[in-house]
Amino acid sequence: MRQNIYIDIDGVILTRGGIPALHLDEFLKFILSNYYVSWLTSRCRGDSKYTVKYLSRFLLPEAIALIERIKPTSFLLDKTEAIDFDKKFFWLDDELFVSEERTLKEQGKYDSWIEVDLIKNPNQLNYLIHNKLPRAKSFRLGPQS
Ligand SMILES: [Mg+2]
Repeated sequence: MRQNIYIDIDGVILTRGGIPALHLDEFLKFILSNYYVSWLTSRCRGDSKYTVKYLSRFLLPEAIALIERIKPTSFLLDKTEAIDFDKKFFWLDDELFVSEERTLKEQGKYDSWIEVDLIKNPNQLNYLIHNKLPRAKSFRLGPQS
């Protein structure tokens, strides 16, 4: 079973001024082939059509084809409302509300949050692919001998 990964837009896949993050296409390909990927952004409220339309102002068609595969979520106030706490997950966001931080801590999942800071580290998506996010285990290989 693939782990869930939840991703924000502003400050995570777009940096300041709506500029796509460096290594974005490689990052999207990586998470889509290793995780069950859902939006966790105020720019998605239960339907990703608006999200895709918004991002098409900033991203090239190749990236759009990838983000179209990301699942929608919905929440009213806190993004944590949309997280499935029964499953392991990562949550990539540049900023949490105090209430969201508290919910993560109450659930014992504060470590699931990966703070993205593209201003401080413009290459962070590349770092995450190669140093932070585990690849999904392949089921085709069977048990290791
Ligand atoms: Mg953000």
